[in-house]
Amino acid sequence: MRQPIVAVLGHVDHGKTSLLDKIRQTAVADKEAGGITQEIGTTQVPRHTIEKISGKLLKKFSIDVKIPGLLFIDTPGHAAFSTLRKRGGSIADIAILVVDIFDGIMPQTEESIQILKQSKTPFVIAVNKIDRIQGWLSDDPSFLSNIERQSDSVKAMFEQKFYEMYEKLASYGIDFDRFDRISDFTKKIAAIPLSAKTSEGLPELVAVLTALSQQYLKDQLEVGDKSEGIILEVKEVTGLGTTIDAIIYNGIVRKNDFLIIGGSEPRMTKIRALLEPDELKDIRREKKFRNIEYASAASGIKIAAPGLEGVVAGCIIRTARTEDEGRQRLEELKEMRESVELKTNDEGIILKANTVGGIEALISIFENYPIRQTSIGSLTKEDIIDAEANKLFENRAIIMFNMKPSEELSMLAYDKSVKLLSSEVIYRLIEDYEKWTSEEKDRLKETEIESITLPGKVTLLKGCIFRASNPAIVGCEVLSGKIKSEYSIEVRDRVIGTVKQIQSEGKPVDSAKKGDKIALSIKGPTIGRQIKEGDLLYVAVPERDYKKLLGNLSLLDEDSKQLLEEYLNIKRKSNPRWGM
Ligand code: GDP
Repeated sequence: MRQPIVAVLGHVDHGKTSLLDKIRQTAVADKEAGGITQEIGTTQVPRHTIEKISGKLLKKFSIDVKIPGLLFIDTPGHAAFSTLRKRGGSIADIAILVVDIFDGIMPQTEESIQILKQSKTPFVIAVNKIDRIQGWLSDDPSFLSNIERQSDSVKAMFEQKFYEMYEKLASYGIDFDRFDRISDFTKKIAAIPLSAKTSEGLPELVAVLTALSQQYLKDQLEVGDKSEGIILEVKEVTGLGTTIDAIIYNGIVRKNDFLIIGGSEPRMTKIRALLEPDELKDIRREKKFRNIEYASAASGIKIAAPGLEGVVAGCIIRTARTEDEGRQRLEELKEMRESVELKTNDEGIILKANTVGGIEALISIFENYPIRQTSIGSLTKEDIIDAEANKLFENRAIIMFNMKPSEELSMLAYDKSVKLLSSEVIYRLIEDYEKWTSEEKDRLKETEIESITLPGKVTLLKGCIFRASNPAIVGCEVLSGKIKSEYSIEVRDRVIGTVKQIQSEGKPVDSAKKGDKIALSIKGPTIGRQIKEGDLLYVAVPERDYKKLLGNLSLLDEDSKQLLEEYLNIKRKSNPRWGM
């Protein structure tokens, strides 16, 4: 039996990275006992480390560790998980869904659940950050020991949070329970309360992963003869050229084996070197990798071979000892070749890559987003014009895998407000895209708020008329709200002009607020006709801005809210439906 491959998913900031770091630290700390091989993109937790971490618990439940260890994928999140796809599933044997006990189920938690369901990957739920429950005592590494020591009110708080999560997940059709309350693990999903900060609950998590894997994934974990793996990343390394970082999940891969790579253009080459990272004893030392003769499933390794250019992450790899056998494997992979689906929505992003395999990987990773077009080859002017035609800003984006646009096209895209995203690491593209859309949303909201006309009321002070017209210049006091240049002004529900300039203490200013005494120059009116001393001047708030303000009342202070109400009453006198 090989080590089960474990992936970590969940919403941003719920603690995925912290949990993986803790697991890694625990494995590293056990190094003297012969443990830890931190390999490329993965962390091995060998059997004796499992026994060391979870020994007491395993004993309590009379579980013998039969698996040789656990292999954790180092990059968390559903974007990275998408690269691990295998026909009809994932190469991850089991997953940990991390949920913050306080935040509960968030959008990326939902997405992760969808992805886990789709790929039929069994999972456990890590109910994280229990140390943040007020009054929680983190005395023991074991959650089960710790929970006993908590006060009744702390226990009650914990149960309440746990139950809230239970109800929410039940609405997604997920039936889970605390791992120690489950009698049949085929019927319920196990939840392990823990803290990635204090490590409490880690013994339980490791024990549950171990027990579930050896009990229910036995067949899947049996190592076969045929070696198979998946490419995690393609990297240029000085002195080695193009290399691939891969996870081997079946068989044994040896130096000098024939290497067969799947994807859209399956190919065969020969392994020149198998490498794993060297311990970093001296950072000044150039050599970062150590040559190894073979690697057996499951493990993360780097492979150097000729002809790896254009290979993409997510492709299957296989190996063979002889050329004949290699050709046979190549044929098998050719038969498995997936075709690129060219989707053509009217609205959607544009995906570009140099190879069919690259497009395939992009389509799979962006499967939850509308795609307008996919195409192979470098970026063109037409792509940018095409992207610009989208109505929604989030679709005005071109995602490029493994290619750099020219300066000229970058400028054009900038002019057309089309976002170009490019990277050699496929899952970074989706991360960048998600980051861009959320930042852009915030920015749009800000500019939208900035463009809203805010209410304001000023009075024309007596004896302060400096000029009668063209423009009229008068002394005013702001009674409430705000006044800005370019705002239109109303008197008795009629627009009489626009603010040309505001002066405070002889200096021009952009705006004035309640209590300010200012000189106002107003384009439009003639003093004595449309306005006279003692008049109340209101900022003319357009109806659509009034509605926007209603949706953003937090922008206004109490005084301005009252003023808005007063303004509404004035408008409704002539138009009872105003602002409805
Ligand atoms: P990720 O985005 O899911 O990888 O989340 P991170 O691991 O980066 O964690 C986000 C934040 O939560 C960081 O500030 C962590 O220090 C904090 N954090 C993670 N796990 C815990 C935990 O169990 N307890 C507490 N108190 N903080 C945590």
